[in-house]
Amino acid sequence: MSSNNNINSERSTGMKTPPTKPTASSFENMPIISPILSYSSSRADSPQIPEIIPEETRKSLPIHETLPIVNCIARARIPTTQGPEIFLHLYENNIDKKEHLAIVFGEDIRSKTLFAKRPNETQQDRMTRGAYVGKLYPGRLEADVDHKEGMSVEFDSEGQLIRESTTTFKDECLVRIHSECYTGETAWSARCDCGEQFDEAGRIMGANGHGCIVYLRQEGRGIGLGEKLKAYNLQDLGADTVQANLILRHPADGRSFSLATAILLDLGLADIKLLTNNPDKILAVEGKNRDVKVIERVPMIPLAWKSKSGIKSKEIDGYLSTKIERMGHLLEKPIKF
Ligand SMILES: [Zn+2]
Repeated sequence: MSSNNNINSERSTGMKTPPTKPTASSFENMPIISPILSYSSSRADSPQIPEIIPEETRKSLPIHETLPIVNCIARARIPTTQGPEIFLHLYENNIDKKEHLAIVFGEDIRSKTLFAKRPNETQQDRMTRGAYVGKLYPGRLEADVDHKEGMSVEFDSEGQLIRESTTTFKDECLVRIHSECYTGETAWSARCDCGEQFDEAGRIMGANGHGCIVYLRQEGRGIGLGEKLKAYNLQDLGADTVQANLILRHPADGRSFSLATAILLDLGLADIKLLTNNPDKILAVEGKNRDVKVIERVPMIPLAWKSKSGIKSKEIDGYLSTKIERMGHLLEKPIKF
């Protein structure tokens, strides 16, 4: 039998102590060494209008001040199995090599960098990149004018798109910031609710007609898939989501949202209604300068709490409890009888 657990106590006291069995409580007193933003603790009433945060406090928070440069490389229409069409936008940027995405509901939400005219490009080049108005059809020759739909877009002398309200959406827009989760979206994982929240955000935006899901390639709260799988094993050993990340020497939440802010601005979405339960995400997407403003928070209630559908597993119960109790999410747990 191994007594590795007690090597240190033997050395310091010279006495032999019986080995202790690791239990769930081994993780219970772990301090959260990398606290998330946690501006306020008075969140019981789940306000839908985000609280006003004093300028000075906002400046002191660990949120972005400057924005990365983003460039939309291509956009394409995707008919979906769920009904609504989406326009998938693919972005490159100057801070990482990943291909971040914007899943856009509404043909009239237009990317500034995608539509900007490039030297020597043809109308065919523009249609191929997805910088067109209206609908593509076989034989169409012009990107900037759709004769069938009677729509056209205009440009200034520098070749930048002029956002006219007749052709370009400029209102308050439903937005969800989603971080990639291979396990939850593709491998049917019931350890988290990412897949369900992604589907639900799409359903709400499809019904509304306009919306944007910014899909950031930061798997496992930014730690990557390999490390996430190790964290799952630690969870099976009794740690919660936050503790598992800290044991692996990762921050509780290593995500960054400045790319999302830059992508939203590129799409002309400066006033947004953010679908989230996470108050820190509001601050994280607004940043120090509030380039994007969250004017309303739309709660995301787990489907299993309000209907017979949704994810049911003991892992998801623990995951949601951690979100609420340790990460300050604005959800009230259902009363259990
Ligand atoms: Zn997930």
